[in-house]
Amino acid sequence: MKQKSVCVVGGGAAGMMAAITAAREGAKVTILEAGDRLGKKILATGNGRCNLGNLMLDVGCYRGSCRFLREALASFGTKETISFFEGLGLMIKDKNGYLYPFCEQASAVLDVLRHEIKELGIRVEYDVKVSGVMPKEKQGFLVKSQHGSMDFDHVVITCGGKASPKTGSDGSGYEIARKLGHRITEVLPALTFLKCKESFFKSIAGVRTDAEITLYKKDGEKLCAERGELQLTEQGISGIPTFQLSSVAARSLLRTKEIPASIDFLPDVQEAEISELARKRLLLCGERSIEEFFTGILNKKVMAVLLKTAGLKPADSSKTLTEKRIAEVIRLAKSFRVTVVGTGDFQNCQVCSGGVDCGQITQNMESKIVRGIYFAGEILDVDGRCGGYNLQWAWTSGHIAGISAAGRREE
Ligand SMILES: Cc1cc2nc3c(=O)[nH]c(=O)nc-3n(C[C@H](O)[C@H](O)[C@H](O)COP(=O)(O)OP(=O)(O)OC[C@H]3O[C@@H](n4cnc5c(N)ncnc54)[C@H](O)[C@@H]3O)c2cc1C
Repeated sequence: MKQKSVCVVGGGAAGMMAAITAAREGAKVTILEAGDRLGKKILATGNGRCNLGNLMLDVGCYRGSCRFLREALASFGTKETISFFEGLGLMIKDKNGYLYPFCEQASAVLDVLRHEIKELGIRVEYDVKVSGVMPKEKQGFLVKSQHGSMDFDHVVITCGGKASPKTGSDGSGYEIARKLGHRITEVLPALTFLKCKESFFKSIAGVRTDAEITLYKKDGEKLCAERGELQLTEQGISGIPTFQLSSVAARSLLRTKEIPASIDFLPDVQEAEISELARKRLLLCGERSIEEFFTGILNKKVMAVLLKTAGLKPADSSKTLTEKRIAEVIRLAKSFRVTVVGTGDFQNCQVCSGGVDCGQITQNMESKIVRGIYFAGEILDVDGRCGGYNLQWAWTSGHIAGISAAGRREE
């Protein structure tokens, strides 16, 4: 078989994986990268530690239009990711199922990828911003940039989405895909914070607490819930549980201006235990103020907001409290109502939900619209939960696209 020339547009996680795989399959590979370095975003992942995968890999951890996700993850999943990186010399650490490089430095992940790219003789062109990919009359493609056109047999488009544009992903990949005839599903920020309407958030900013957050539809039906460490900010709620809910919130906010939500600040206290807890606490009433009486149940700043919402004055004597009133405060702590009015923007999100419609992509990551064009990574309409799932998608889809573009997985 003639050696294929493969152009990878975008040198992020998916692009580097696609390039390495295609080169290992015998293709002559060139990466065209708009920035001045490869894998800039990888350095920011996992707070600089790079959560590169997860032992608990499941299709349920992803959203989007990909019908062949199960097959894709089965062909290159966690096990394959570990052996790929171990093969590059990277030792991997498992922290409760979350995978990191042993040294917990994201730069190590990037270094081994860059080293392999060099070893394989992959050509890398920096500061080349691709503006379009044109199918040639008979076969092959012209890849256009500010420097002119280049000629390739196959093209893998891995430009990422719009999340964190300072790392290079400015959404220009969607335009390239659109010009080739691809449908782009609505692109929204995901894995980001939630903005809330209430002004009291200013007084509880900075608090971190274990809690459960639930989003509801307007009619009160539960949309979704997540538990973990919430970070309360001036604007609303942040932290991993909020990130996990944010793409649902962003989609709902397209249809409605406000989403009712509740925070359970006492997720380990069951409804059945509340009366008993209130009865026991009542025995502690006495010379203390209400504020002192409730000390130690919740973070002090949060408790102050709760007491105000419950119509209690912190300085009043706790002798005024009844068992019923105490139970009401505990119930309020378990179901504290807030109103979500927005999410973080593309600058502040970790990934995008939406993108190139996977209904127009084959299992080999090849375009059904223009044969010889492949897609991988975040540019596709696939987004994962927090926990290594988005990089896993970049590795999985990049690997499949690389094999296919080199010519081994013809359909
Ligand atoms: C702060 C932060 C933390 C994260 N932490 C994690 C984590 O711990 N675990 C996890 O799984 N995921 C994490 N993610 C998500 C994960 O990093 C991304 O999903 C993944 O890197 C996407 O890879 P990609 O190759 O598809 O796109 P990108 O990494 O965005 O790469 C796209 C590349 O294409 C280039 N490019 C764009 N347009 C063009 C063009 N027109 N021409 C040429 N080049 C172009 C860009 O410069 C860039 O280099 C995090 C994201 C952020 C922002």
